[in-house]
Amino acid sequence: RYMKRQVACRGDIDSLNAPMLAIYESLIPAEEEMAKQKQLLALLEKIVCKEWPEARLYLYGSCANSFGFSKSDIDVCLTIADADTNKSEVLLKLADLLQLENLQNVQALTRARVPIVKLMDPVTGISGDICINNVLAVVNTKLLRDYACIDVRLRQLAFIVKHWAKSRGVNETYQGTLSSYAYVLMCIHFLQQRRPAILPCLQGMKTTYCVNVDNIECAYFDQVENLFGFGSHNGESIAQLIWGFFSYWAYCHDYANDVISVRTGTILSKRTKDWTRRIGNDRHLICIEDPFELSHDLGRVVDKYSIRVLREEFERAAEIMQYDPNPCVKLFEPY
Ligand code: ATP
Ligand code: MG
Repeated sequence: RYMKRQVACRGDIDSLNAPMLAIYESLIPAEEEMAKQKQLLALLEKIVCKEWPEARLYLYGSCANSFGFSKSDIDVCLTIADADTNKSEVLLKLADLLQLENLQNVQALTRARVPIVKLMDPVTGISGDICINNVLAVVNTKLLRDYACIDVRLRQLAFIVKHWAKSRGVNETYQGTLSSYAYVLMCIHFLQQRRPAILPCLQGMKTTYCVNVDNIECAYFDQVENLFGFGSHNGESIAQLIWGFFSYWAYCHDYANDVISVRTGTILSKRTKDWTRRIGNDRHLICIEDPFELSHDLGRVVDKYSIRVLREEFERAAEIMQYDPNPCVKLFEPY
C-alpha cells in the first residue's frame, strides 16, 4: 500500500491536549445561544404554518449536527409537498411573509445552486437561510449528530479541523476548497480507520432508522446510546489524533487511487467508483464519497490549483504538529 512517509509523533505530543481542548471549549456555543436558535425556529414555524398548514421546518447543518461554532448562522429546511415544480414561487412568497413579520435583510436567491431565502432576526440577532425540500441534508445532519454522540473525540477533532480550515482559508467551496460537511466526513472516516477503531460504521450495522429520500434509501443503526464507550479500547489522546489526521492527509492518503467512504468505513478505489477521469467539472482530485448520494464526490469542487493549496496546508499543519514549539498558535495563524 502507498505510504509516502511514516513518522512517529513527537515525544511531548500530550502536552498539547490541554491547550487544544481549551480552544475547542472556546468555540462551543453557549446554551442560551441554542435557546435563541430554537426561539427563532418557533417564530419561523408560526409564520410558515399560517400560509402552508402542512409545511414543516427542520434545522440542518452546523446548528443541528453538533459541529457548529458559537455565533454561526442557522440553516433551515422547509418541507412542503409539490413545491419542487415552483420552488422560486414558494421562495418569493416566503420572502414576502418574512418581510411582513419584520425580519430583516430578507433576500430570495432563486437562482443559486441551492435556492434559499436569507434573513436576519432583529430580536435574537441570528441570521439564517431557508431552503426547500432539501431532505437529504436533514438526514445527513442526523447521521453526523449520531456519530458525534458515540465518542467525544470526534467533536473535538472536527472543531479543531474546522477552526484550522477557516483560519487558513481552505473552507471555501467557491474557491475550490472543502465544505465543513466534507471535513467532518474526513474526521469520521479517520476515526473509523484507527486500530482499535474509535468509531463504528453505522451504515454497516443493523438498520434501526430508514427513510427514503428522492429514491435514495438512507438506512443505518441510530441507537447510538448503545454504542457509548465503543472507542474506549483506543486510548489515543486528542493531540495524537489531530497530529494523526494531518499526517494522514499530508503523507499517507493515496490521492491518485483512493476514495474515503464513511458509508463502508473503508477506503474504496477510484476505479470501482468510476472516478478515474475528469467528467465535466468533476475532477476527483481528492475523493470523499457522500454517505447517501453515492455518485456524489464532495471533493468535486477541488481543481488542479486548489488541490495544491489544500495539500500544502495539510503538510504545513502536519509539520507544525510535529516540530513547532507552539502549535496551538501556529496552526491557526491567519493566512
Ligand atoms: P459551518 O459551520 O461552516 O456553517 P455546516 O455544518 O453548516 O458548517 P455546510 O458545509 O455549510 O456545513 O453545510 C450545511 C449542511 O448542508 C451540511 O451539514 C449538510 O447537511 C449539507 N451539505 C453541505 N454540502 C453538501 C453537499 N455537497 N452534499 C450534500 N449535503 C451537503
Ligand atoms: Mg452552515
